Amino acid sequence: MRNDLYDWGISERVLELSSKVRESLAERFSEIDEIAEANTLCVMRAFGDKWVSDACFGGTTGYGYDDLGRETLDKVYASVFGAESALVRLGFVNGTHAISCALFAALEPGQTLLSVTGEPYDTLRSVIGAGGGVHGSLTSCGIGYAEVPLAASGGADIGAIEGAVGDERVGCVFIQRSRGYSKRRTLTVSEIEDIINAVKSKRPDINVVVDNCYGEFTETIEPTHVGADIIAGSLIKNPGGGLAPAGGYVAGRADLIERAAARLTCPGIGGECGATLGQGRLLFQGFFNAPHAVGQAMKTAVFCAGLLSGLGYNVSPGPYDKRSDIIQMAELGSADGLVSFCRGIQAASPVDSHVLPEPWRMPGYDCEVVMAAGTFVQGASIELSADGPVKPPYLAFIQGGLTFESGMLSIMKAASAVTAN
Ligand SMILES: *Cc1c(COP(=O)(O)O)cnc(C)c1O
Repeated sequence: MRNDLYDWGISERVLELSSKVRESLAERFSEIDEIAEANTLCVMRAFGDKWVSDACFGGTTGYGYDDLGRETLDKVYASVFGAESALVRLGFVNGTHAISCALFAALEPGQTLLSVTGEPYDTLRSVIGAGGGVHGSLTSCGIGYAEVPLAASGGADIGAIEGAVGDERVGCVFIQRSRGYSKRRTLTVSEIEDIINAVKSKRPDINVVVDNCYGEFTETIEPTHVGADIIAGSLIKNPGGGLAPAGGYVAGRADLIERAAARLTCPGIGGECGATLGQGRLLFQGFFNAPHAVGQAMKTAVFCAGLLSGLGYNVSPGPYDKRSDIIQMAELGSADGLVSFCRGIQAASPVDSHVLPEPWRMPGYDCEVVMAAGTFVQGASIELSADGPVKPPYLAFIQGGLTFESGMLSIMKAASAVTAN
């Protein structure tokens, strides 16, 4: 095995350090296994309670009326996430689309959207449309926007949030759970609960929307279990379990889910239509796999944090920190380091390993960006991928890993490429 590993590009130094890192993380790994086990039980019970059967996998064409699979999957998601209702659809083209439908569901013209975790994820800026948005943005529908930055500690600024919800125009509070691709830290579900309690004790009428992307199954509860009115996420991230070929979901209060469905399709049609085109089994099987897949991705991230910090790089979160998403950030210190790391991840991928990532000027960024992803499902970030803006401090964002073995080996190969510089 050792020689095969050297042959594949793993250096002796990285191999030795890796076995120490794995030993030191044994307890962390078993904590993650326990989370995966508890979440698997929850999913198994929902599959049984909601009578998932072979008949759910048939799928529909055309209008997609009376799609047993689609309706059953909605119930399974709602049950697992402790929500009244859920809408799981291939027609959500990505997480941004699902979050956008959740926001439109939670707001009326004349109200204000208040983001309490600072600036939201990049792609949501166009949805909000602040500063002269495009047709169909929240702004163009007469909805205002305001923001409370995160506190210096990295958590939510509860005092400032309590002040801001005093403005009676605020109709919706928006919380982003994951750090996304930024330096801020991820909020735990318990921190999200503190925000919700602070908001609801002043203004029980406010709808709380949580961007749950990358968070599902990293803990044993979700924001809907602690009072979020609606959560949204992407199926090519955690809840798709690596099998869902596309899609997104929203889950929460039944009236809000109905409004989100009317936004996804159109008023009067809502969630009653939407052919599943024979993809149903993958959505069910993916959700069944998801607690395990997320556990494997978390172990990969924790191992990555341990190995890279052992090699002297700054990482966030640290290997022993509590996690509430699957994202790992590492400061690789130089353009060469960042690009070599991403090239190592690409070279280790099961798909497109022969492709060489090149930094490029991606629209919406103020510098070049390098990206590595060799995934079965295009753009799937529950599968191992890494990327980063090529500017100081040369941050790499690493996430995913369908199996711990493949994730760990890929990280080892990428770390070997960096340290060879
Ligand atoms: C991925 C992600 C989204 C949505 O991104 P899509 O690419 O549209 O799926 C939104 N918020 C956060 C924090 C994310 O990580």
